[in-house]
Amino acid sequence: MASQPTETTAEDSAGRDLPSDPTPAPAEGDAATGSLGEAAAEESYPPLVVDVAALEELLDGRYRDVRNLVREGLADHASVLEAAERLPYEQFRERVKDVLVELAATGNASLGFPKEYGGGGDVGASIAAFETLAYGDLSVLVKVGVQFGLFGGAILHLGTERHHEEYLGPLVNGELLGCFAMTETGHGSNVQALGTTATYDPGTDEFVIETSEPGASKDYIGNAARHAQVAVVFAQLVVKDVTHGVHAFVVPLRSGDQVLPGIRIEDDGLKMGLNGVDNGRIWFDGVRVPRDALLNQFADVTDDGDYVSEIENPNRRFFTMLGTLIQGRVCVGAAGVSASKVALDLAVEYGLRRRQFEATNEEQEELLLDYGLHQRRLFPLLARTYALHFAQEVMTDRLHEVFSGQVTDEASRRLLESRAAGTKALATWHATRTIQECREACGGAGYLAVNRFAALKADTDVFTTFEGDNHVLLQLVAKGLLTDYASDFADLDQFGMVRFVAGLAVETVLEKTAVHKLVERIKDVLPGGDAWSEDAGLLDPEYHLAMLRFREEHSLAGVARRLKNGVDSGLNPGLVFSQVQDHVIHAARAHVERLVLEAFVDKVQALPEGELRSALNVICDLHALSTIEADRAWFMEHGRLSSQRSKAISREIGVLCRRVRPVAGELVRAFGIPREMLRAPQLVGPTGG
Ligand SMILES: Cc1cc2nc3c(=O)[nH]c(=O)nc-3n(C[C@H](O)[C@H](O)[C@H](O)COP(=O)(O)OP(=O)(O)OC[C@H]3O[C@@H](n4cnc5c(N)ncnc54)[C@H](O)[C@@H]3O)c2cc1C
Repeated sequence: MASQPTETTAEDSAGRDLPSDPTPAPAEGDAATGSLGEAAAEESYPPLVVDVAALEELLDGRYRDVRNLVREGLADHASVLEAAERLPYEQFRERVKDVLVELAATGNASLGFPKEYGGGGDVGASIAAFETLAYGDLSVLVKVGVQFGLFGGAILHLGTERHHEEYLGPLVNGELLGCFAMTETGHGSNVQALGTTATYDPGTDEFVIETSEPGASKDYIGNAARHAQVAVVFAQLVVKDVTHGVHAFVVPLRSGDQVLPGIRIEDDGLKMGLNGVDNGRIWFDGVRVPRDALLNQFADVTDDGDYVSEIENPNRRFFTMLGTLIQGRVCVGAAGVSASKVALDLAVEYGLRRRQFEATNEEQEELLLDYGLHQRRLFPLLARTYALHFAQEVMTDRLHEVFSGQVTDEASRRLLESRAAGTKALATWHATRTIQECREACGGAGYLAVNRFAALKADTDVFTTFEGDNHVLLQLVAKGLLTDYASDFADLDQFGMVRFVAGLAVETVLEKTAVHKLVERIKDVLPGGDAWSEDAGLLDPEYHLAMLRFREEHSLAGVARRLKNGVDSGLNPGLVFSQVQDHVIHAARAHVERLVLEAFVDKVQALPEGELRSALNVICDLHALSTIEADRAWFMEHGRLSSQRSKAISREIGVLCRRVRPVAGELVRAFGIPREMLRAPQLVGPTGG
């Protein structure tokens, strides 16, 4: 069904009930385009039409059924949103734990585990379920992430059959709660430098787990302060006085509520958000676990007490091990996109109801969403949310292919790891920015806890830090680009990588990258010479992509050149890298932004001609031009944007925003966020949550 303005109707075009409008109903036709929007509407463009149900189906993609099941579950547990606000945090933690156990019983939280252990045997579905769960309370989401993604994921991917047999069944059905104890007080991002040790004792055939120094206490560990019975502990494995690097061990923490001897646990206490999750610190004092507690997928200690691994190089072993755990990272990126959708849904719906100042009509004040400024603030973020949604969809598909064994080559795995790191960084930064802008767009009402933004802001803030700090992740992305994901990439530490790049001609670095091949294509689609960017159509996706490819290649070349010059002039490689880190981050970001735009363009171009494609085309243009505009100083510095063209881009963004305005409501409703999850009575009216 084609959409019509629905601000004052009792049902939207997806057939869901809408709350009654808390502000007076706009005059007929007014809410459709708004008076200001109408005044400035570009006559030459046909109006956009969005069928909410069709768009929601497209966004849900192949996992629509799973997403709908999760939506139902969210609506059933809507009271958690209120509990987060009202209950003392100790009680809220118990409530969140109870919801986790109830969710475990439905099976919707463990879709990624093998069927023989009670899972759904579908990795992609598990990501889609998690993404949808992120419309709800984020303590519940993170508790689910810790139990099934981190703890369960480590047992599944780092363990072997004996661990699967013992732990997967009980953890999948919620009987055994666990935690993932990697980070230490002294080391978070630098996991290879962890201080906890696991020393093999041949006399008793056990490992002795030890917090070797004060900085080696495990810290921030979700589920540790109260609920975890068992931990997967990451520690330096020492066998026969040789340290073999970080490995993972299953270590019991509690019997019932009692912490076991040799273990000390301290509550991390109140946090900025996510207070339904019990994060804690753990110390181990000579805790003994049997030899088979080693999660031995990639290395083992034999009956004779010898260390064995099929991966000889310790760096490669370490990166291979960590590479199996990227699902958590993919999930956090997905959750960032979902949280952005909730914020945008609230802000757009509020902008369709709230009026301030007479602007075009003396009888009636203007709807917020009819102000050009409001459109400018919200719609580029909405467009980027769509772009990230489709980028995340590509991620999920690739992850599914690799983790279900459909794609097995090493290069695809490395590309996936890089993509997961980069998408997580961009998606979570986007969430932080979008939620803040949307909160402001809702004025004082946005600040009241009852209207969801307080929790949204507080709970998502740490998304930029956990599952890998975003800046550290983007450095990983750049490392992959600079080494062309070579198989020896995994063996290189930072020094090695810098020396490797410095040892190549800059042209070689570029020739090795996929970007170079992409840039070749620019010449085919755009006029040559310096004028190419001037002559191309502003709404041509090839122009948008060419700009982003140019930026990517140029930034990467700049990093390679700087690394090379620095090392050639005799500087310490670490110092050289440190001095060019801002360029490294720019290059990585440029790379991921190109991937995100490509995902969106590919999606639009694969759609049949029609209303949906036309609407998404406009959103895609808006995203592309806003991305170029956001970095216009760089494009101008590098001769790819004249001041005239730059102004034309800004003008065009204004036009696109006005085109989006009449369908903005439909665009956010198509996210399919259960009304109960909006729970913001002053913003969108009663939602029944
Ligand atoms: C709420 C919460 C829940 C968590 N849950 C868990 C869990 O369940 N299990 C677990 O193991 N861990 C968990 N963590 C830990 C989390 O993964 C780490 O906090 C994260 O990896 C960052 O490590 P860090 O805190 O030591 O920060 P650091 O690594 O010290 O980083 C601090 C700052 O330094 C910068 N920085 C670091 N290295 C570099 C560099 N090379 N170049 C330039 N800048 C750099 C970073 O960008 C960052 O801005 C959790 C953390 C929080 C806050």
